[in-house]
Amino acid sequence: MKDGNFLKEHNARHLWHPMAHPAEMQANPPDIIVGAEGVEIIDVDGHRVVDAVGGLWNVNLGYSCAPVKEAIARQLDRLPYYSIFRGTTNDNVIELAEMLRDFFAHDGLSRAFYTSGGSDSVEVALRLARQYHKLRGEAGRVKFLSLKKGYHGTHTLAASVNGNANFRTQYEPLMSGCYHVPAPYTYRNPFNETDPARLAGHVLAAIEDEIRFQDPSTIAAFIMEPVLGAGGVIPPHESFMPGVREICTKYGILLIADEIITAFGRTGDWSGSRHWGVRPDMMTTAKAITNGYFPFGALMISDEVAEVFEKDTTGKGAIASGYTYSGHPVGAAAAIACIKETLRLNVTENAAARGSQMFAGLEALKGKYEIIGDVRGGHGLMSALELVSDRATKAPIDKQSIAAVQRGAYAAGAMIRVSGNNIILSPPLVVSDADVNTILSALEAGLSTVS
Ligand code: PMP
Repeated sequence: MKDGNFLKEHNARHLWHPMAHPAEMQANPPDIIVGAEGVEIIDVDGHRVVDAVGGLWNVNLGYSCAPVKEAIARQLDRLPYYSIFRGTTNDNVIELAEMLRDFFAHDGLSRAFYTSGGSDSVEVALRLARQYHKLRGEAGRVKFLSLKKGYHGTHTLAASVNGNANFRTQYEPLMSGCYHVPAPYTYRNPFNETDPARLAGHVLAAIEDEIRFQDPSTIAAFIMEPVLGAGGVIPPHESFMPGVREICTKYGILLIADEIITAFGRTGDWSGSRHWGVRPDMMTTAKAITNGYFPFGALMISDEVAEVFEKDTTGKGAIASGYTYSGHPVGAAAAIACIKETLRLNVTENAAARGSQMFAGLEALKGKYEIIGDVRGGHGLMSALELVSDRATKAPIDKQSIAAVQRGAYAAGAMIRVSGNNIILSPPLVVSDADVNTILSALEAGLSTVS
């Protein structure tokens, strides 16, 4: 392998990074990751750290999951690719669809539509929502509602429902007909409400108000993450998602649960919807479905929605959406092995226990470090620290300081993720008690460099 300096120089010259400014990447070369084992990653200089990010919230089973690697290798030998467009299918996608139906049985989702990743899953969910209403004779239902702070991907429809200006402004105009309501974000919200239950009530009222303002008969779907992820890990009050479900049902609006992060155990339950006791009409999945080892996703669809398409006799129920890699046999083999491992290891239990340990550790750090304005989490292994320069004004910490926290934590043994003024922690769901302590002490080392 070429040495680190050579790689950094060439990286800066020939490669643009997602979600990064090219000039910033040239000035501050990224760490070059060349290996991984268990829950650790290894950089080109041989430095080994616990991956407190879990890839990108997707490596739930860690980096040494032998059954998944073996399934991929076996499948590459047997059938490396064939499409599942009209006329052909493969045995893996059939087996996987049944496994997914069983896995999400509580959520009442029995049909799978395969994609190549999260943004694809969201895009197709939004398209199918419009098509569903057209098939039912409500062609006027074309608008989408979503939460500010929500993240749903980068395709144009998905980006249009994103609730963070960073992902929108440079690409506007996006799709018209997408409207956003405030997030149930206790630390900062337009209602000046600090009580989570009362805030949930205010946001639900705002949703209903927006629906009436838009005219309910124009709205196709409400899309939301059960726990807002990339927006800074914002778990709502337990009354919130059930409240959204009730409103959607009342007005004939489909509820799309974007579970690209939360499905497969991250919240300490099999899905985020199940965590809140809600049955969505569609659920987007990707990420951990293949543990990050292969790009793959699945949109899950309820019986009720599916039947509208399946019973159509006009031809307009044809799914005019699909990707070359929809139902990739290698991805499906990886997903089958992942679901088996997820169930065998019962990872939700560890996610819940280690999540509580992490949350308690973060709360303790808040008692010691003034720059921690807010600690969020407590629902499995997704948590965040919001860093501020002043607790009274809640002014966000500057970019250099939060970057220094990250570098300090990395030097002390953990990869953490910075998103705006948040530090996000989403390690593999198989982390041990000791791994969580390593993450917490590395994080503390990072925090102490700027406090
Ligand atoms: N929705 C959510 C909730 C996500 O977290 C993400 C990715 N972080 C996406 C959609 C987009 O997925 P992808 O990056 O695989 O396209």
